[in-house]
Amino acid sequence: MTTYVYDFSEGGRDMAGLLGGKGANLAEMARMGLPVPPGFTVTTEACRIFLATGQAPEGLDRQIGEHLATLERAAGKRLGQVDDPLLLSVRSGARFSMPGMMETILDIGLNDLSVLGLAKTPERERFAWDSYRRLVQMFGSTVMGVDGSHFEAAIVAVKQQHSRGDDTQLDTCDLIRIVETFKDLIHERTGEEFPQDPAEQLRRAVLAVFTSWNGERARLYRRREHIPDDLGTAVNIQTMVFGNLGPDSGSGVAFTRDPATGRPGVYGDYLPNAQGEDVVAGIRNTVPLQDLAGLDPASFARLRGYMDRLEAHYRDLCDIEFTIERGTLWMLQTRVGKRTAQAAFAIASQLADEGLISEREALGRVGGEALARLMFPRFATTDSSEVIARGVPASPGAAVGAVVFDSAEAVRRAAAGEKVVLVRQETTPDDLPGMVAAQAVLTSRGGKTSHAAVVARGMGTVCVCGAEGIVVDTRQRRFSAGGVTVPEGTVVSVDGSEGVVRLGSVSLVDSDVMRYFEEGGVLPADGAARQPVRDVHRLMRQADAVRGLEVRANADTPEDAARARRFGAQGIGLCRTEHMFLGDRRPLVEAVILAHGDTEREAALAALLPLQRQDFTGILEAMDGLPVTVRLLDPPLHEFLPDRTELAVRLARGEALGTPADPHDTELLAAVTRMHEENPMLGLRGVRLGLVVPGLVAMQVRALAEAVVARKRAGGDPRAEIMVPLVDAVEELHLVREEVDRVLAQVSQETGIDVTCPVGTMIELPRAALTAGRIAKEAAFFSFGTNDLTQTTWGFSRDDVEVAFFSAYLDKGVFPVSPFETIDREGVGRLVRIAVEEGRAARPDLKIGVCGEHGGDPASAHFFHGAGLDYVSCSPFRVPIARLEAGRAALEANGTDASAQPPHRAARGRGEPRRHGPVPAAAAG
Ligand code: PEP
Ligand code: MG
Repeated sequence: MTTYVYDFSEGGRDMAGLLGGKGANLAEMARMGLPVPPGFTVTTEACRIFLATGQAPEGLDRQIGEHLATLERAAGKRLGQVDDPLLLSVRSGARFSMPGMMETILDIGLNDLSVLGLAKTPERERFAWDSYRRLVQMFGSTVMGVDGSHFEAAIVAVKQQHSRGDDTQLDTCDLIRIVETFKDLIHERTGEEFPQDPAEQLRRAVLAVFTSWNGERARLYRRREHIPDDLGTAVNIQTMVFGNLGPDSGSGVAFTRDPATGRPGVYGDYLPNAQGEDVVAGIRNTVPLQDLAGLDPASFARLRGYMDRLEAHYRDLCDIEFTIERGTLWMLQTRVGKRTAQAAFAIASQLADEGLISEREALGRVGGEALARLMFPRFATTDSSEVIARGVPASPGAAVGAVVFDSAEAVRRAAAGEKVVLVRQETTPDDLPGMVAAQAVLTSRGGKTSHAAVVARGMGTVCVCGAEGIVVDTRQRRFSAGGVTVPEGTVVSVDGSEGVVRLGSVSLVDSDVMRYFEEGGVLPADGAARQPVRDVHRLMRQADAVRGLEVRANADTPEDAARARRFGAQGIGLCRTEHMFLGDRRPLVEAVILAHGDTEREAALAALLPLQRQDFTGILEAMDGLPVTVRLLDPPLHEFLPDRTELAVRLARGEALGTPADPHDTELLAAVTRMHEENPMLGLRGVRLGLVVPGLVAMQVRALAEAVVARKRAGGDPRAEIMVPLVDAVEELHLVREEVDRVLAQVSQETGIDVTCPVGTMIELPRAALTAGRIAKEAAFFSFGTNDLTQTTWGFSRDDVEVAFFSAYLDKGVFPVSPFETIDREGVGRLVRIAVEEGRAARPDLKIGVCGEHGGDPASAHFFHGAGLDYVSCSPFRVPIARLEAGRAALEANGTDASAQPPHRAARGRGEPRRHGPVPAAAAG
């Protein structure tokens, strides 16, 4: 019989897959002897069966019943016992934390009779009825499906009728009335009574939590965080403890280090006389955790002790939820806490200093995604624009955008290309789409652990919360702050590192970390580098020391090459020559295409030659002593010609007006029409071009060879390599090689300087991968063009499908992340492995790299390391990220945990230029 239920005493932190993160950590704390309210966990496996079949697995009810009986015996009271009820909480808890995205039901076990038992003494009456009110409300909406707004409206009506200001002013009679109204509401809306049987309440609550795995917000969150859809959630059933029993009770959240900066100390929020839900919801303003030292010194001291033990035990930043019930401290949750990018580097570095983890483990605690965030610009500190609000710096970074006041508006404007800042009193899980769409989130309530703060940090979105000085008026769609009224659409600048909001658009400065890389990755001798830079430096050195993969850059200008080198690139893995044919050189290419006969074509090519030579010379100089892989021309030729429709219209207009047609235009139109292809990506491009346009390969090779000669004459150490794109068959490569060898020999002879360049090929078509053994006989190296390999393996046109249907595919779970972003291991990855194996079998010294966008993707780096590649090549700005991830990949392969993240989680941000499009301006991440 499968075990679907585990007592807290039976689990442990290594069982998160089965018990969820929360369940596994509760079990771990119970094992450590920390005061955890007793309970048990229903496994994710039970959830998966329920979601697949619509039925709870056989035996689940019985197992829950047995564990409940044990719990009741230990507590000396039964669930819902009339005179003294045992009450339970039922909470979700998935493998990866999904804060607030699934359901919770509290106070299970209350009914019309046991509420009286709970209200044993007059001073507990209000508390008992408030608890019953919470249960009926949560159960009504979550389990029975009544729209939550009806309950809210009912509370508002009672408050108005009896002139109550806020919820705390509702007295016992009000609450009794509300409970009755809620029960009527449920009956009206569902035709069912609120169940009085505690066992039924428990059973249905468990199933409702299972179901909430597939709720809309949970699905959206998973998609965003790349958490697989098929994991399911565990359900934790735990004895209720109450933080709302008076001034000697309360609830709070604690971090063992500052999750924003990583600084050690006491961080967190505390809310006296409140349940945990009230803290996270940000409904009332919390006090800093330090204040607990004055309010309840004994509990504070105990909590500090537990915090230290947990951090030493987990050897990492822990985030903790606790409740104090009448002076007794209870630990409700702990987990390795989420943190900002800066904090990740700081904490890894500190823990290594403290000897709690090794240098290698420290590297496993950071990631390329976090590094990318540190490379983003910050606001210029010298900017004197008006500060209109200050709040809690909850998620760092700098963002500028137009303020909006609800999630739908944020989504609408963002879809139209506008940058927005979502402003709310506090956020709820329903605001998630707006938070995803926004550059920044600003709230007037709640602390570092409010919903807004936790979710924004997780997403890397800038957030300032608890900006108490602002008054948000969502109806009038404006907020006011210190006498300034800010209507919707006004541009503000939000600084999530300082917790400051400024009116207007503040200018940005590069990050210190970016500057550090720009300066070649060395710390200034005067020791003036800021701590985050020192932390990055330390972990980059560690990564470089352990990594097996080399990191090269995709660069096609001397400037990019020089930057890549400063960023630590060990050569150029892809120099796309097509970018050298654009701009004011385009007419020269046109001339090649339009040439009548060999003489004209040769003349046109000859005009291009010195320009190409000059480009190559600059790049070889910038990369002196390091390999520079130059790829022969790849895109379809028509990309260098004017648009067909535009030309036709111009000619037709001229004809209509009776002006004589420009013969050049007529000729161009004929050429464009002749060369038109329905599927240019699968047409005359790559090596095919070189084989049908006479002289093209020769011109490019000569330009490169002459550049090598020029560099050698200047005393340099040029290491050019020639790469042939889009090879399908070894015969293509063979033909091109003959021409390359011929030209290299010619140039050597003409100049008296020996020019030998390794000639290799891109592997970017399935046929090439499948015949790699044969191709390797003609190739000195392979470089996987995973962009083309992905599109041709999937049969996706890269430029069309991402916009057309990828969001639907991600929604439907066809893949958890775009295969253009993170390598598709099963399909494209299989081709890579075949090609590596067969290529190396044919030529053991074959050098193999990757130069598609995946070369700069953290998750893909681990695959390439495992597949035995020699190097990855990516855009200059991603070089540091690739270095870091290559180090982590080496550790992971050695068994040091470098992946405490969901499996498909990949760095977002700017990757390589879109194929053949303009090269993007400097951009980090
Ligand atoms: C590739 O296909 O992965 C590649 C690097 O070439 P391009 O993107 O220029 O087609
Ligand atoms: Mg390609």
